[in-house]
Amino acid sequence: EKQVIGILGGGQLARMMVLEGAPLGAAFRIVDTAETPCAAQFAPTERADWRDLEALAPFAEAIDVATFDFENVPAETAQWLTEHVRVHPGPQALAVAQDRMAEKTLFREIGLDTARFAAIDTRADLDRALEEIGVPAILKTRRLGYDGKGQFRLRDVADADAAWDALGEQAAQHGLILESFVPFDYEVSVIAVRGRDGDFRTWPLTRNWHADGILSLSLAPAPGTEAIADTAFAHARTLAERLSYVGVFALELFVKDGRVLGNEMAPRVHNSGHWTYDGAVTSQFQNHVRAVLGLPLGDTAVRGCSVMFNWIGAMPDMATALAVDDVHWHDYGKSPRPGRKVGHATVCGPDFATVRARVQALAEALGRVEQAAPLLELPVS
Ligand code: ATP
Ligand code: MG
Ligand code: MG
Repeated sequence: EKQVIGILGGGQLARMMVLEGAPLGAAFRIVDTAETPCAAQFAPTERADWRDLEALAPFAEAIDVATFDFENVPAETAQWLTEHVRVHPGPQALAVAQDRMAEKTLFREIGLDTARFAAIDTRADLDRALEEIGVPAILKTRRLGYDGKGQFRLRDVADADAAWDALGEQAAQHGLILESFVPFDYEVSVIAVRGRDGDFRTWPLTRNWHADGILSLSLAPAPGTEAIADTAFAHARTLAERLSYVGVFALELFVKDGRVLGNEMAPRVHNSGHWTYDGAVTSQFQNHVRAVLGLPLGDTAVRGCSVMFNWIGAMPDMATALAVDDVHWHDYGKSPRPGRKVGHATVCGPDFATVRARVQALAEALGRVEQAAPLLELPVS
């Protein structure tokens, strides 16, 4: 009998889960707070508020297992869902990932270092924490931040006033966190999956570049990471086991002088794993579907080398891009809006040298050389 997967949130992550789950014969149902989120094109979608359990009841009735495109579904709603259906990942994993304090505290508990951090509820807390942690530092909302939103960078203690002006109001509501600024050499993410039977797998490390706080470029496998990969994977595995995690998640790491520091985790498929759709034997989306359905997980090996360009604000010209070899296009079907993720392209090839040449051709054709610059500057060796 056909299992129905219910997805809370209907954005591009849900959309790609549906597209990758379809060949397995999986059926989907989506609920979102918006009328027609971009996944609605491919699966029946209804509208409800996350806290309105009465409105969510028909959705819960109609599905066999619930999963998430949106990581900030209230913990009470996730808990309520567990009384009706399987929920993967579970409410405990969601709760930890929703709160930067809980998240970093758990990282340290499992032996994964982090930047220095302190909880900030009042202006006096901020002054005290700045003394302890020093500058430069970043003040962040504990909850609900994404794409670098809800963050303020302090270069100097004198920036405390401006930081409080920007985020002080949110301190009372959800709390803030002050983190020391990590002058990292580079950023990587672990994309990992854990099955219902405990089978744990990771894709090769992905190197990431952000622009204005938003993921701009990813490269996998991340070159020169042989010395840190096993440590990074071991942390991801310990984290997954501690949280009895089922499904795909991402662990974002800073690398500094050959050491890894935990930044945050995402309890869902992740933007830095989008390349797996085109560049791995099994994509993060298909393995997430397999995991939540209790099916055997697929091979996470790469087919070669992949680079992902995020399209922020508006889509570039597709026909121009498709003229470049081994370019894969993903248009989320969203209307353009500044700062909004509207699509991405994956550039694949047998090795980094080939992919870099294709990235250069693509970037020049689309007028995106500036976006591609961090990649074009990497040595080919
Ligand atoms: P996402 O869209 O990945 O969920 P987010 O809004 O939750 O992002 P973070 O991942 O915490 O925010 O920060 C976004 C980016 O800002 C990081 O990937 C990193 O480049 C930079 N950053 C965040 N915290 C620090 C830090 N403590 N030190 C140095 N850079 C940082
Ligand atoms: Mg985040
Ligand atoms: Mg992040």
